[in-house]
Amino acid sequence: MSASERVNLLGMSLPEMEEFFLSLGEKKFRARQILKWIHHHQVDDFEHMTDVGKVLRAKLAEIAEIRAPEVLHEGISRDGTRKWVLKVDGGGAIEVVFIPDGRRGTLCVSSQVGCALDCSFCSTGKQGFQRDLTSAEIIGQVWLAARSFGPRTNLGEHPITNVVMMGMGEPLLNYDNVVRAMRVMKDDLGYGISKKRITLSTSGVVPMIDRLSAELDVSLAISLHAPNDELRDELVPLNRKYPLEELLAACRRYSDAITHRHKTITIEYVMLRDVNDRPEHARQLLRLLKGMSVKINLIPFNPFPDAGYERSSRESIMEFHRFLNDNGLMTTIRTTRGDDIDAACGQLVGEVMDRTRRSERWREAVFLRNQEQAGEAGPLQR
Ligand code: SAH
Ligand code: SF4
Repeated sequence: MSASERVNLLGMSLPEMEEFFLSLGEKKFRARQILKWIHHHQVDDFEHMTDVGKVLRAKLAEIAEIRAPEVLHEGISRDGTRKWVLKVDGGGAIEVVFIPDGRRGTLCVSSQVGCALDCSFCSTGKQGFQRDLTSAEIIGQVWLAARSFGPRTNLGEHPITNVVMMGMGEPLLNYDNVVRAMRVMKDDLGYGISKKRITLSTSGVVPMIDRLSAELDVSLAISLHAPNDELRDELVPLNRKYPLEELLAACRRYSDAITHRHKTITIEYVMLRDVNDRPEHARQLLRLLKGMSVKINLIPFNPFPDAGYERSSRESIMEFHRFLNDNGLMTTIRTTRGDDIDAACGQLVGEVMDRTRRSERWREAVFLRNQEQAGEAGPLQR
């Protein structure tokens, strides 16, 4: 059986895994055993699963696999931030970033290859949409990062304490796979990360916000970026479909549906010089959000080639921050991390694509050289 025909167990949640073993005529408890091997020990070879009988191990090796995306490149920043560039089936690359901060370690996970929503300041948007990631490719990012830290001895000790769905792509447009992967992140047989510490960031796909609150009430972040429809239509084109009033109504419903402490929604606001960073924008934002259970995260814009925007000055970011806080809106400024390895928000794709192309050229060169050595001259080798 070829690799692509095998069932990839990496993306399965507990009920799916139980179903899989029942369909093989095996007992349900196997699902729990295998999930622990995969996600607690990051084992990808059935032979290493010592509490599974030899016959079943051989059967699994025949029909199933545990396969994460291939690592093309790994970078570690001076500030401890780590980034992996991963190659996905069918070409294209995604990235996953780990940001350590004291006792907290946040993993920033991608949900799609590219993005169709074309926000004007986002390099992923500029790349266009290639495809949705499978749940195995989404949870595979957590698996790879966890594996790089070595096996874990018990829950809670792991360096990955938080996950943010803030990498490439719009997670709510790949809803089923993202929710399946988030279930594994949350499950004790997976990574045991509480739903409060899993944050899904969306540019505002209103119907899916409602669906999410009913199914898996993780923490929510909204990429707002503008305090009025005219400006938001320009920065986040999805606003033309789901304008501010509808989006904020969905946020209120989300908060109301959640009874835990994490009902506060994060509002992300990228600071673009002379575009959305003036005092009048801060005043409009205050009016818009007053009375809601939100906290605001100001994100200094991360430039990329031909972006057409500049980062707001330090003074205007501080002023914006002060005004909102003074008026009762809890506001923080996101520190840019990992920018020496291009791991900061929205900064990566150009670099990712360059690297992918470089690495593809490299592969091609190696392939041609091997052919040459084997005496099988290809068409390019005249
Ligand atoms: N698609 C989702 C999640 C991925 S983007 C969303 O839009 O929310 C994660 C965050 O990075 C979003 O708030 C996005 O607006 C922000 N972002 C995108 N490009 C950026 C850039 N160049 N500089 C700073 N933040 C950026
Ligand atoms: Fe897509 Fe988010 Fe980038 Fe907008 S900001 S293009 S929704 S990844």
